[in-house]
Amino acid sequence: RFITLEGGEGVGKSTNLSFVRDYLQSRGIRVVTTREPGGTPMAERIRALLLADDAQEPLDDLAELLLVFAGRAQHLAQVIRPALARGDWVVSDRFTDATFAYQGSARGIAQERIAMLEQFVQRGLAPDLTLWLDMPVTYAADRLAARGAERDRFERERGDFFERVRQGYRARAEQAPERMVAVDAAQPLEQVQRDIATRLDQQLTT
Ligand code: C5P
Repeated sequence: RFITLEGGEGVGKSTNLSFVRDYLQSRGIRVVTTREPGGTPMAERIRALLLADDAQEPLDDLAELLLVFAGRAQHLAQVIRPALARGDWVVSDRFTDATFAYQGSARGIAQERIAMLEQFVQRGLAPDLTLWLDMPVTYAADRLAARGAERDRFERERGDFFERVRQGYRARAEQAPERMVAVDAAQPLEQVQRDIATRLDQQLTT
């Protein structure tokens, strides 16, 4: 099975990724955890290109999109497909829904163009379950500020960018309600994880 975690900045993806891994492992499942952009040494170098700020030469939106998919092709070939072929479960912090949300909805690249690349690169491979950790943008921004985290090129974007990211995720969830479920990430962590466990139990029994 292939499970992805999605959501904007500061919604608790890392914490919940560990929870998903531990929950599945405690049920005897072999789990590979990974992330995007990145997930292999080469794809992590592409990630660094994506996140770097270059004052001299801003990254073109289409170049950004192609870099995301270049990293994804490498990640699929090196990590995701081999793991699924072995029968392991793969849990990824972000995947293609993020591309629809960030490069699509937020940057303004047409969904159809992204869908073409999705088909070209993934050839039908898609997550079995996507947990979209959702919370209001202002709440997530407060959490990030409290953490005092270093901000990358994306995290310095303005609030309306993240509103569009959220709308993009919402649209994706509406298009594929069986696969992609919204988890209310503004709840106390224990409740968030109870909700996640319910979804994982459904995967374990079907
Ligand atoms: O999830 P993580 O914080 O590691 O993502 C790194 C950065 O890349 C984030 O700021 C995220 O907004 C951005 N990103 C993006 N497009 C994607 C995936 C991630 O802009 N397709």
